[in-house]
Amino acid sequence: MKLTKKSFKPLVQAICFILMLQSISPTHAHLPDLGNEHREAVSVDDEKFIGATWMREIRGTGMVSQDLLVNEYIKHLGNKLIPYVDMPYNDIKIKFFVINDKTINAFAFFGGHVAVFTGLIYASESESELAGAMAHELAHISQEHILQQITDNKRMMPITLGGALAAAIIGMPELIVPVLAGYGQHQLNFSRQHEQEADRIGMQILAKAKFDPHGLPNMFERMSNSSRFDNKPPEYLLTHPLYDTRISDTRSRAETYVYRQRPNSQMYNLVRARIEVKSASNILELIKNYEQKLQTKRVVNELATRYAYAYALAEADKHQAAYNAILPLANEHPEDLIIQVTAAEIERSNHMPQAAKIRLEKLAKLYPDSVSVILHYADLMIVLKQPKLALKTLQHFKTIHEPEPVYYELLRHAEGMLGNQIGVFEANAEWYMLNGDTENAMKQLKMALDLNAKKDERIKARLETRLEQMAALLEREKKI
Ligand SMILES: [Zn+2]
Repeated sequence: MKLTKKSFKPLVQAICFILMLQSISPTHAHLPDLGNEHREAVSVDDEKFIGATWMREIRGTGMVSQDLLVNEYIKHLGNKLIPYVDMPYNDIKIKFFVINDKTINAFAFFGGHVAVFTGLIYASESESELAGAMAHELAHISQEHILQQITDNKRMMPITLGGALAAAIIGMPELIVPVLAGYGQHQLNFSRQHEQEADRIGMQILAKAKFDPHGLPNMFERMSNSSRFDNKPPEYLLTHPLYDTRISDTRSRAETYVYRQRPNSQMYNLVRARIEVKSASNILELIKNYEQKLQTKRVVNELATRYAYAYALAEADKHQAAYNAILPLANEHPEDLIIQVTAAEIERSNHMPQAAKIRLEKLAKLYPDSVSVILHYADLMIVLKQPKLALKTLQHFKTIHEPEPVYYELLRHAEGMLGNQIGVFEANAEWYMLNGDTENAMKQLKMALDLNAKKDERIKARLETRLEQMAALLEREKKI
C-alpha cells in the first residue's frame, strides 16, 4: 500500500486552524488552584491537547524537516538550554522540531513546541546566535506569553476563547502570518513588553548554558543588516518588530555578563553545511564552487567544506564521487556522528549497504540513543531484506523515543515485507494521525478490522480500542 504524499499546504492554513477554534471548554475541575488568573482560561491539559493538534496540523503542511541529522542537532542544542528554563508546569515538556524553509524564523507555541527554521540555522554565523534565538523562544514558553495574551485579548474584546487564541497567536510576533498583521496592531505595546521580557530571560538562559550572551544582539543585528540588502526583510523581522532600542538594550545587557567566547561545535558547522547543500538552487554550480575553494585552499572551515562537497555530490546523484569524497573524511573522524551517518547514507545510495551496516553498528556503540543511527539502521535492514531485524530495531526505538512519521514509514515497509497486512494498515493509520488526518487514519484501521474478520480476538480488541481513541480525539478537536 502506497501512501500518497500530502499536497503542500502553506503554513498559513495551519495558522488559520486556530481561527476555526470556536470555544475551549472551561473545564478546570482537574486544575489545581495555582492562583494563576491566566491559567484559569485554559487548563494545562487543554494547552497540551491544542499544542499536539497544532503540531499534527503543521506536520500535515509537509514543511517539517525529515532530515534526521538536522533534527537531532537542534534537539541536542536545545537540550543544552532546557535545564535553565524555569518551566511553570512539570508536565509540559519542551519539544524542538525543524521547519524546512529558507525564511529566517523560529516560533514557540502551546504545549512546549519550538519550531526552528532551516533559514535561521543557516543565517546564524555562530552557535551562540542560533542558541540565542532559541533561548528567546524558550523564554516565551516559560513566561506563558501566549496564555497571557489570550486572557488579555478576551478582556479587551468580547470574543470567544478560540478567537482570543487566534488573536494571541497573531500578537506573538514570531507566529504570525503577515497577512493578519493588521489584526495584531492594537496590541503592539503588549507584544513589545513580552518581547523585552523574552529577551531578558532568554539571555539569562543563554548565559547559564555557557553560550556567549552577545549571541542574541548579534543575531538581531544580522537580521537587521540582511533586511537592508535584500528586497524583503527576514520573516522574523516582519513579524517580530526590531524596535529602535532592541539591539542596544540587548547589547548593553550582554555587556553585564562576563565575556565568554564559545567556539562553534563541529556539529553546528556540519549541519549548516548540510543545510547549505539542501537549499541550493543549483547543486552543480555549488559543487564547482566547493571544488574551486578546496583547490585554492580558500576556505573558512576546511572540514565543513569537504563535508559539504561530499554531501552535494550525493544530492546530485553522483554516488561514486560522493563516496570517494566522504571516505577519507570518515576515516579521519571515526567518532563524528554527522560524518559517519552521512557516510552510511552515501554507502547505502552507492549500493554498499553491507558497509553502511558495519559503520552504523560501530556508531551505535558510541551513540546508542541516537535517532539518526537507529532509524538509518532500521532502514538498512529493510534494504538488506531483513524485516525481522528492522522490526526489532524499531521496537527498541519506541522504548526510548517518541515515534515520528519516518518511524511509521519504516514500520510499514517492514510489516509489508513480512506479509502482515494488518500491521501495514496500523502503521499507515499512525502515520496519518501524526500528519493531522484522523479520518484517513480511522479508515486504515477499519480496513484492518475488515481484513481480520474476527479471526483473532486479540487483534480485534486492539484495533477497536485504537479506533475509539481516535474517535474521541476527533470529537474533542471539534469542540475546541
Ligand atoms: Zn519573541
